[in-house]
Amino acid sequence: MKHCTVCGAALQMRFLHDEGKEIPFCPVCNDYRFEMFNVAVCVAIFTPKRDKVMMMRQYGREKYNFLGGYVNKEETAEEALVREMNEEMGMVPLCYAPMFSQYYAPSNTLMLAYYAEVADEDVSARKIDEVDEARWFTYTQAQEAVIKGAVAERLLQEVKNRFADLQRPF
Ligand SMILES: [Zn+2]
Repeated sequence: MKHCTVCGAALQMRFLHDEGKEIPFCPVCNDYRFEMFNVAVCVAIFTPKRDKVMMMRQYGREKYNFLGGYVNKEETAEEALVREMNEEMGMVPLCYAPMFSQYYAPSNTLMLAYYAEVADEDVSARKIDEVDEARWFTYTQAQEAVIKGAVAERLLQEVKNRFADLQRPF
């Protein structure tokens, strides 16, 4: 970030004691300008028995991934999670829990990864607008289908670490 997002003036690096490091500073506004980034949620949607996990293909891509979407301004991450599940899958979570967060540099996005459960496994009748294909995978199938090194692979692993019944994958 080289210019002030408010007035457009060139930013200078200035030490900010609270942060313990240099932060971009606008000499015109006389204020610090913190680096901006996107925030998104992604969610591994399981059945309550955790014998299946939902994966999907989106935006013409070949690889399967977990449901994800950006958090809108003035929206909480939890609201974004519930909204994305409803908009993209017509699903209402029974429950959900945060797993971890990870910064993803290519899209300048802080990813907030969640675990969720849904009661209704039927995806055939759903109105799916933004999803090319969505289907249930066993844990082992999901491990094979997931993009290696992606946030989704870590999410799958962390869900397994969290829940004892996944220690012996089916
Ligand atoms: Zn400024």
